Amino acid sequence: MVEELSSLARWECPPVSKRTFSLEHRRRVTDAGCWEWTGYVNPHVGYGMYRTETHNLYVHRMAYEELVGPIPEGLVLHHTCENRICFNPAHLEPITRSDHIKKHPEVSRWTD
Ligand SMILES: [Zn+2]
Repeated sequence: MVEELSSLARWECPPVSKRTFSLEHRRRVTDAGCWEWTGYVNPHVGYGMYRTETHNLYVHRMAYEELVGPIPEGLVLHHTCENRICFNPAHLEPITRSDHIKKHPEVSRWTD
């Protein structure tokens, strides 16, 4: 698919944008290879938040879109490392919402 090819191309040549710049500067790399967000964390969902002039974005979703490509419609990002403040795209797996709820039955109220 065209979509997949463009995602691969992005991997090889990640865009150096203002957003990725500030992501790198708020990143703590752990022994497990997680990219932990050192900025603001939403206390309700436990995800790192990235603030722009107009929006509060989930850091892991933004990082994925910046570094990999658009998240397919209707899919959510699952942290394979179980570390919710991690935004390493290699630890993020796009899966369906219902699969995500199966993986985390205790947090089925999450919207993302
Ligand atoms: Zn991780």
